[in-house]
Amino acid sequence: MKENRLYNFSAGPAVLPVSVLETIRDQMLCLPGCGASILEISHRSKQFIAIQEQTKQRLIRLLKIPQTHEVLFLQGGARLQFSMVAMNLLRGSKSPAQYVVTGTWGKYAVGEAKKEGPVEVLYDGADHGYSKLPKPQELRISADAAYLHMTSNETIQGIQFQSDWQVPCPLVIDSSSDFLYRPLDIAKYGIVYACAQKNAGPAGVTVVIIRKDLLDRSGENLPGYLSYRNHAQEDSMWNTPPTFGIYVMGLVAQWLEESVGGLDAMHRRNQDKAQLLYDAMDRHPGMYQGHARLEDRSLMNATFKLPTEELETAFLAEAKKLNLDSLKGHRSVGGIRASIYNAMPIEGVKLLVQLMDLFATKHA
Ligand SMILES: *Cc1c(COP(=O)(O)O)cnc(C)c1O
Repeated sequence: MKENRLYNFSAGPAVLPVSVLETIRDQMLCLPGCGASILEISHRSKQFIAIQEQTKQRLIRLLKIPQTHEVLFLQGGARLQFSMVAMNLLRGSKSPAQYVVTGTWGKYAVGEAKKEGPVEVLYDGADHGYSKLPKPQELRISADAAYLHMTSNETIQGIQFQSDWQVPCPLVIDSSSDFLYRPLDIAKYGIVYACAQKNAGPAGVTVVIIRKDLLDRSGENLPGYLSYRNHAQEDSMWNTPPTFGIYVMGLVAQWLEESVGGLDAMHRRNQDKAQLLYDAMDRHPGMYQGHARLEDRSLMNATFKLPTEELETAFLAEAKKLNLDSLKGHRSVGGIRASIYNAMPIEGVKLLVQLMDLFATKHA
């Protein structure tokens, strides 16, 4: 079975560590000491409460989350966060929220926020196809803004901010496709949110790390589920939380702590993998044209085009023969997209690089 696994370059839901999948399999009929499966027990059972607490504590240790911040496990994906951020922090606010739009997901986030209050778009990279990122000093970030929203990694275009911004208003990031890829200075953020199914677990659970003082901004008239304050007050048990997702995210966090050795080590692995891939692109500039400006390249999603669609089709067919799967780019950008999240083993990247070298030489 394990031998039949492909190297899965899917953008999401995406690859998980094999050891995590093996633990899920081994514990599926009976969680240790529980007599039942994770899928069958009450979220109020002491076993599940311990699992959720352990997942939370592992995230707190990995990201060094300070006491000033709360960790929530929600549903609805990152898309619901586009709305919830604005419903909780922008509704009723006199000053606008500011948005930095560096790709498709940022654009969607603006669309939802506009339904809730005034929005000011400080930057929109549409005119160059979202191929490069701005620097904070180029933007008119206001200390009075309700918040500043940005997308730390644009999954479709493959561009990524590699450092933490310091801004004078609450900083909100959509970290859906790069959560846990490196250490973050959480103190600099008002909210970090991420759906799990790219880099941190299965679909169905969304993590929200929120500075506690921002909870006061959740209005009384919000539908109950949409209020961050409700979820914080009830420790993510305002309603039934996504129990299976929280369990798997805990196993991924355990893998990061115990097998990888923490987020500094994970970051180095991610840098090494991305370097191999981008070096291969740059060795054959006649064959592979990257979408992103060099310094804005993502460590998670590498996007590039070949000279013709025929060559791209041939490349994907060759990749399939080598068990390199899901490399077709997003329909809006085209070309190839290799998603090399935390759990993609370096062997998968090396095999892809071998193919890139061979293919470029053969079709030169
Ligand atoms: C996938 C993705 C989303 C959407 O996530 P859903 O869970 O499908 O709502 C939002 N933002 C980014 C950066 C993503 O990669």
